[in-house]
Amino acid sequence: VIHFAESILRWYDQYQRLLPWRALPGKSANPYHVLLSEIMLQQTTVATVKDYFYRFTTQWPTVESLARADLHQIYHVWQGLGYYSRARNLHLCAQLLVKEYGGKIPEDPHKLIKLPGIGPYTSAAVAAIAFNQPSIPVDGNIIRVIARYHGIMTPLPQLKGEIEQWAHQQVVPKRSGDFAQALMDLGAMICRPHNPLCLDCPVHGTCQIYQNGDPKQIPAKATKKPKPIKMGTVFVYSNEKGQVQLRQRPKKGLLANLYEFPGTTWEVAQPLRINEAVLSNNFIKHTFTHFHLYLIVTTRVQPHLVDETCFWVWPDELSHYALPTLMKKVWLKALASHK
Ligand code: SF4
Repeated sequence: VIHFAESILRWYDQYQRLLPWRALPGKSANPYHVLLSEIMLQQTTVATVKDYFYRFTTQWPTVESLARADLHQIYHVWQGLGYYSRARNLHLCAQLLVKEYGGKIPEDPHKLIKLPGIGPYTSAAVAAIAFNQPSIPVDGNIIRVIARYHGIMTPLPQLKGEIEQWAHQQVVPKRSGDFAQALMDLGAMICRPHNPLCLDCPVHGTCQIYQNGDPKQIPAKATKKPKPIKMGTVFVYSNEKGQVQLRQRPKKGLLANLYEFPGTTWEVAQPLRINEAVLSNNFIKHTFTHFHLYLIVTTRVQPHLVDETCFWVWPDELSHYALPTLMKKVWLKALASHK
């Protein structure tokens, strides 16, 4: 990590992004600015946050002034940043800082994390950037850079856990705040998600994925589990008058309260049975979010209702009932099989 960190820091000294909350080289960052920017950045891009950051720090230049502010005024200036709970928490956080820490922001990430609106990422980021504490905040940029550099093919979301573990085990270089920001900048500017600029990257000589593969393969995509296939039989029964049987589905669950032709329950199918159904060509196929369904459509004239929940309907009145797409397909299949 030392060699890696040195290269990254050297690159950072030359190419870092100029951000209004960042300290100029050789100066320490204003902890209030760091905290404020990190909270704003939680769900918002750097480009958007810049303006809001200026407005906030102009109106409330210190923790104390923010603590004293009227919450509605804060909401007003926050307008457009979204996720208003962040604004409310920020206000609470400022008040707590004044009450318990004399308006000073604590350096220890374990204390920071207890403040309203501050989670593991923000506490690590503030501790590192504002106080040079040896912590590495793990965000999307950092996950990508580290995973690519080490050639870690684990897909998200497990990858996040692995990189967090990695971060815990690191002996963080002396300039830990700069190291964290260097990784963030590298991820945003060079090791970009879609077209990484590896030739401009200070660590491409030792980067595993650059040397042995394609950086875009990381973060790896999780392979989707195939959906199970279920099967059932549906009965389109008509009486001698030409009415068809219908019933209402249960109040809860899939297609709740909608109407259907009666049928069996749907069970996970054996491949052999699916083949039989396909060969017989008397089925319809439908895909739900969690499974595919093959439904065998049986048509028959029969005078009895399948059970007491069923009732007779004239075919031209079917449109008065809320039939799901699945049942419309069943009806079309039944009509076609009569031709
Ligand atoms: S060489 Fe490419 S993939 Fe590797 S860390 Fe640098 S930019 Fe990312």
